[in-house]
Amino acid sequence: ADDLPHVSEADPTAKALGYVEDASTSKDPKRKPGDTCVNCQFYTGAPSGYGPCQLFPGKSVSAKGWCISHTAKQA
Ligand code: SF4
Repeated sequence: ADDLPHVSEADPTAKALGYVEDASTSKDPKRKPGDTCVNCQFYTGAPSGYGPCQLFPGKSVSAKGWCISHTAKQA
């Protein structure tokens, strides 16, 4: 999965969702501290690097990334 092309922040879907490669750079007020792709239920990759997100088929997102569709993983 790490070999999937990385989602670009310039990608139209990424822009629509406010996706950023590094969650700490997001200025979106909806982001809660500590939320990243790793603890989002749509992320199926490894805890670091890049991995698949169900919202970006065929691409990979940054484990440290974030977007407005972040939904906390069920414990
Ligand atoms: Fe990251 Fe979740 Fe947004 Fe996908 S839906 S980009 S895993 S925060």
